[in-house]
Amino acid sequence: GGADIECDVLVLGAGPGGYSAAFRAADLGLKVVIVERYATLGGVCLNVGCIPSKALLHVAAVMDEVSHLGDLGVEFGAPSVNIDKLRSHKEKVIGKLTGGLAAMAKMRKVTTVRGYGAFVGPNHVEVEETTGTGQEKTGSKKVVAFKTCIIAAGSQAVRLPFMPDDPRVVDSTGALALQGVPKKMLIVGGGIIGLEMGTVYSTLGARLDVVEMMDGLMQGADRDLVKVWEKMNKGRFDKILLKTKTVGATATPEGITVQFEGLDGTKSEGTYDLVLQAVGRTPNGKKIAADKAGVAVTDRGFINVDIQMRTNVPHIFAIGDIIGQPMLAHKAVHEAHVAAEVIAGELQGNKELASSAFNARVIPSVAYTDPEVAWVGLTEDQAKAQGIKVKKGLFPWTASGRAIANGRDEGFTKLLFDDSPEAHGHGKILGGGIVGTHAGDMIGEIALAIEMGADAVDIGKTIHPHPTLGESIGMAAEVAHGSCTDLP
Ligand code: FAD
Repeated sequence: GGADIECDVLVLGAGPGGYSAAFRAADLGLKVVIVERYATLGGVCLNVGCIPSKALLHVAAVMDEVSHLGDLGVEFGAPSVNIDKLRSHKEKVIGKLTGGLAAMAKMRKVTTVRGYGAFVGPNHVEVEETTGTGQEKTGSKKVVAFKTCIIAAGSQAVRLPFMPDDPRVVDSTGALALQGVPKKMLIVGGGIIGLEMGTVYSTLGARLDVVEMMDGLMQGADRDLVKVWEKMNKGRFDKILLKTKTVGATATPEGITVQFEGLDGTKSEGTYDLVLQAVGRTPNGKKIAADKAGVAVTDRGFINVDIQMRTNVPHIFAIGDIIGQPMLAHKAVHEAHVAAEVIAGELQGNKELASSAFNARVIPSVAYTDPEVAWVGLTEDQAKAQGIKVKKGLFPWTASGRAIANGRDEGFTKLLFDDSPEAHGHGKILGGGIVGTHAGDMIGEIALAIEMGADAVDIGKTIHPHPTLGESIGMAAEVAHGSCTDLP
């Protein structure tokens, strides 16, 4: 009683997790309401994440590719960049996709309620209407009653407490706003997001410094993949500070002066026109009054779920960044489908649907830098650390006709197969990594091979088209199997 709207499923947040859950639930015949504070659907990924970053990275990659052509006998003049036009290109890309989502929601009769949602009980969310960018609340409130709920409220960038409140200090959202091109830019945090944004800005003309607490950039990827990226990208950087903490910063008329402290105690500082904070993302779990519904939230703001995406409250589910690492859109989408199917199955008494579960073996990661770095499953570093015996198949792109023809043979493809005694020489593929152009577009094949339990013969005997970069996956398998004899 007392609710303005009633539904089978309330989805809190309209990112890749939220809209995917809403669409699947609606397709399965349920009455669905999405609550979203932003004006558009798509969440971080479409509005201020995956998509705008890739729109800009595409332009950067073309500019870099063109600059390589000098060696091949084709010269262009220096690029002239119209930043307003470039920004509006990015906005158009976002608009196309978020507009498409709105149309798909309408077609499925999914109701969208604009505003900030918070639980007021185990079956009710109160939504306070928002306007503008989603930060301003109008005070107008609605209550939505639900039978079941899927929390997909995502995450936001971590802010360093000592960073001055200054337009020259940005997070990834501020960097994507592309207000201009700084001369000197600092990236705090050498992970994928920081390095992708750094790639864009440096191609547009900025000089980069990067500071990272760990002993290497792009943590999570095998070091030999990252080495290739480093070799190709060192020209973008004045300084790569590793094992170094950022400890303070002050705003001055000349720029943002940032203090660093090495883990060995070395102190230094630098002054920058733009500082990008890319030190990770924090889940929004503590901002939705989850306790009012009895949903447990960890100290760090995550919500724990089982493999059906169920929280400690049986009719409330959670998906995406808010349930934990890896914080990736494709993970959120798969979790979304599971939650929607379980709910539909239970509400409709369909046992098969109700038994849906998230049991993917692997989730691929990609840095959309130039070259791209992509990996999935066990990495060689992890195999070493865990004492897992693997057989490696490495195919250098210096032996790939296509890579050579492209003038981009710096990459390689690496596959790892189980080499434990129990595998009897027919070990299944456990992981793989690719560094090189288009690596991200190829890593899905390795993920499929892992899901299917393929061994080196399966992959090596699969005919890949020649000449393609994807052929390198078949060749790497042949190398592992010992049947590749025509390498230089
Ligand atoms: P989100 O996308 O965070 O969506 C949550 C939504 O909930 C938001 O729209 C938010 O406004 C809304 N919301 C939150 N709380 C409330 C509330 N109380 N009331 C109403 N609405 C609320 N991932 C990839 O896989 N590939 C990439 O290339 C990639 N690039 C990225 C680049 C950048 C710069 C960033 C920042 C992230 C990138 N990611 C990428 C990560 C990806 O964006 C996230 O993993 C993904 O968006 C998570 O989806 P989600 O549905 O869990 O949450």
